[in-house]
Amino acid sequence: MKPPEKAFSEYLASRNLKMTPQRRLILETFIQADGHLSSEELYTQVKSKDPSVGQATVYRTLKLFADSGIAEAVDFGDGLLRYELRYGQDHHDHLICDECGRNIEIVDPDIERLQEELARRYDFVLRRHKMYLFGLCKECRGKNQ
Ligand SMILES: [Zn+2]
Ligand SMILES: [Zn+2]
Repeated sequence: MKPPEKAFSEYLASRNLKMTPQRRLILETFIQADGHLSSEELYTQVKSKDPSVGQATVYRTLKLFADSGIAEAVDFGDGLLRYELRYGQDHHDHLICDECGRNIEIVDPDIERLQEELARRYDFVLRRHKMYLFGLCKECRGKNQ
């Protein structure tokens, strides 16, 4: 598998765009953060490394990450769009706490297999899926009781 920087450069070239130092920095920062970032959060981290990078540039670059398959938008249901690294990553699903927003990444082989079986039953070929289960984490349940 190509490194993400190469994959992103190729995507940019296909759209007649260039891998600029700013885009490279934004990509590096996004990969290092290794989490679920809103454009605001990514901008804060990028700005701490290079204050000359504007918020609009970070926002547009994040859109390019999503369009190129480098990143994927994840919606935790709190109105804030976050992005996670998708390129070269193992698949995982999410348990999300309604109270504190904690995101627990999970993969269950049985659930994955059931999804494939379900798709087969409906003569459907799965390409991808996202599963978000919402509820209360252990800590937040403790607080409310
Ligand atoms: Zn899954
Ligand atoms: Zn919680």
